[in-house]
Amino acid sequence: MSSQSYRSTRSAADQAVSFEEAVMTGLARDGGLFIPSQIPKLPEDFISKWKDLSFQELAYEIMSHYISSSEISGPELKDLVDRSYSTFRAKDVTPVKVLDESKGLYLLELFHGPTYAFKDVALQFVGNLFEFFLKRRNAGIEDPAKRENITVVGATSGDTGSAAIYGLRGKKDVSVFILYPTGRISPIQEQQMTTVEDPNVHTLSVNGTFDNCQDIVKMIFGDKEFNEKHHVAAVNSINWARILAQITYYFYSYFQVLKAENNDAAKIRFVVPSGNFGDILAGYYAKKMGLPADKLIIATNENDILDRFLKTGRYESSGDVKATFSPAMDILISSNFERLLWYLVRDNMTNGDDAKAGETLNEWMVQLKTTHSVVAPESVTAAARVDFDSERVDDEATIQTIKAVYSATPDNYVLDPHTAVGIATTFRFVAKDKQEGVTDLKYITLSTAHPAKFSEVVNKALLSFPEYCFDDDVLNDDLRSLATKEKRILLIDEACKEKVKKAIEEELAKESKA
Ligand SMILES: *Cc1c(COP(=O)(O)O)cnc(C)c1O
Repeated sequence: MSSQSYRSTRSAADQAVSFEEAVMTGLARDGGLFIPSQIPKLPEDFISKWKDLSFQELAYEIMSHYISSSEISGPELKDLVDRSYSTFRAKDVTPVKVLDESKGLYLLELFHGPTYAFKDVALQFVGNLFEFFLKRRNAGIEDPAKRENITVVGATSGDTGSAAIYGLRGKKDVSVFILYPTGRISPIQEQQMTTVEDPNVHTLSVNGTFDNCQDIVKMIFGDKEFNEKHHVAAVNSINWARILAQITYYFYSYFQVLKAENNDAAKIRFVVPSGNFGDILAGYYAKKMGLPADKLIIATNENDILDRFLKTGRYESSGDVKATFSPAMDILISSNFERLLWYLVRDNMTNGDDAKAGETLNEWMVQLKTTHSVVAPESVTAAARVDFDSERVDDEATIQTIKAVYSATPDNYVLDPHTAVGIATTFRFVAKDKQEGVTDLKYITLSTAHPAKFSEVVNKALLSFPEYCFDDDVLNDDLRSLATKEKRILLIDEACKEKVKKAIEEELAKESKA
């Protein structure tokens, strides 16, 4: 096993931190994101060696290239991986489904975890990692006042909150507080979050908007006194461990398609519905490790900063976030994109100099914050286009794609709206290939959520089909049963930081008595 350390994307010095520090602090002190000091390169024969491994075995192999065994031993890592994926309903964890055999189209179903969205793949693992590190730090300390504990605080418009709750429920020395806007998340998402019985889980329904919730969380993070007292932590999408856990399914699905095609030289592209760029960034790491994927294709909704960057080289936020049918991808700026920019700058502008790349990134990110715009040199955009391509899909095309796939598949397959953005993109690329006479490309589109989580949009698309019935065709017993469970909700009647702080302190006091 390798020795691996981490650095910040904004650091102009060679300061290394451990995997544990990168995971437990999340964001670097200089505001940058943690990246591994080196991307491990796999030996030439890795395909024949890894092709038949189970998801868990692959996860272990990949992760052990990024975590020094002096930090987490082999058997400990194996145990963490096994426990993290034992909560998935599918034996394969992330199964691959044939969408259209004749065209070489595959779907990678990432929604078989506890909250039915792809974020579970990462957050089940992150929850166990937090617990592992805290357990070690607290070994032998009985006095609760002396034990190190963390208070995770987050805001959600849906998917992240429930996946974080299911990742952290019941974990010792961890408390979780998730804020969401009252009446503005889907019923199933609210049921998922509020029916969890573990005493360390707290859901705060805030009378306000998602932006209000996010602002309160930011203010709480900036509140030094509160922070020192309660050790406030985040599990947002910039945490390195989330990216790491997601690398596995790129390898896993690649091997499944090689086997399905009976061709180890098949040319495979990944299409990824993208928002904060965390999911597809894991594909970039897989590619740099040596996975011979042909291209990674970014599929955005109308919040299209990534698509505009690839087409113009301008990384700029424009106006306000647009509320679309794929809400988990409604972002102005993609926080994880900073990591890709660092590699592009280092390899194309600073001659491989890590510290100089950090300096440039720091300048760019300051500029992005003040002027909302960074223009990358042509060398950087050209390099981005070697690994990536992109498309932008609007709400109308999202609906049309859900309809088209439902009609065209023998089992009337129902896409969730995020996955539909991905499939719409795939269809456009397949059409382009046909025009250009390209016939040998295979496509794996990442399916990021179960359709039942987004009933409103799915019904909008499918209710015109006479035989369609949401309750029979989309819902399942597990999700149906949520509606009958008791909900635990703390109502915060005003979007106000002090009221949220007070509620958190009261709940923490109750927890420590329990
Ligand atoms: C979070 C999420 C995405 C976007 O993933 P990023 O890593 O932010 O690019 C897409 N679909 C669903 C259902 C999600 O929950």
